[in-house]
Amino acid sequence: RIVYVNGEYLPEEEAKVSIFDRGFLMADAVYEVCSVLDGKLLEFEGHIARLHRSLSELKMAEPCSDEELLEIHRELVKRNEVKEGGVYLQVTRGASDRDFVWAKDLKPTLVLFTQAKSIEHSPTATTGIKVIAIEDQRWARRDIKTVQLLFPSLAKMEAKAQGKDDAWLVEDGFVTEGTSNNAWIVTKDGTIVTRDLSTDLLHGITRASVMKYAKEAQMKVEERKFTIEEAQNAAEAFFTSASAFVTPVVEIDGATLGDGTPGPVARRLREIYLAESRARAI
Ligand code: PMP
Repeated sequence: RIVYVNGEYLPEEEAKVSIFDRGFLMADAVYEVCSVLDGKLLEFEGHIARLHRSLSELKMAEPCSDEELLEIHRELVKRNEVKEGGVYLQVTRGASDRDFVWAKDLKPTLVLFTQAKSIEHSPTATTGIKVIAIEDQRWARRDIKTVQLLFPSLAKMEAKAQGKDDAWLVEDGFVTEGTSNNAWIVTKDGTIVTRDLSTDLLHGITRASVMKYAKEAQMKVEERKFTIEEAQNAAEAFFTSASAFVTPVVEIDGATLGDGTPGPVARRLREIYLAESRARAI
């Protein structure tokens, strides 16, 4: 695989980042993942807009222009012949001798690589997934997409250890989000519900688009908190993320939803989302 590091395209074995990089030593880094279908980038503008926001919230320097970022994405997709999968991008504050205080003139580290994988016809799209509930123990700025992914990894490992697929994180009795996705339910009267935006959760790019398309399709959407108990008693549940689009959830903390198969709203939203984002791919 050819990867990108600080201005260079290199075979992955030759790509190097300093051991003093603050991304490595202190998780002082942000990232984005842009999906690829038919060799084209989905939701590129949304991911880049969120990258700018993450960088600015952490007072990190912009690594390069948006035009250059698009060019690097496209070049990697081309060189690696990726038809389906994703492009991972990470910006760190840069390398300097280990110190909590950072120098103002650090040069950001920019790394991108592709991951070729099947995302459109993933088995979970037809079977749905099972989630457990876990207390959300992440830091309080989950709206910034940092590489501090240890707690979400532990939570997902716990779900796997219990024979399930993912964990929905719960704070003060309400679901914040999934370990790497936004959580949604469909009430028995057909209203689509997802948590309102705040610093408590990541502002998903897929979440925003799905909400827009649902409203355009005359579906009723509510942005508010919900509990695990409300989700267990909902008509349907699903999650959204850049790489899994809209994926049904069929079991929540031991309770099966409906007949345990993906519901019609989740299936319809997945179809709409795929058609719309494909049509806008660049
Ligand atoms: N929440 C978290 C914690 C995530 O890691 C992700 C994946 N980036 C999401 C939500 C979904 O965001 P997006 O739709 O932009 O992929």
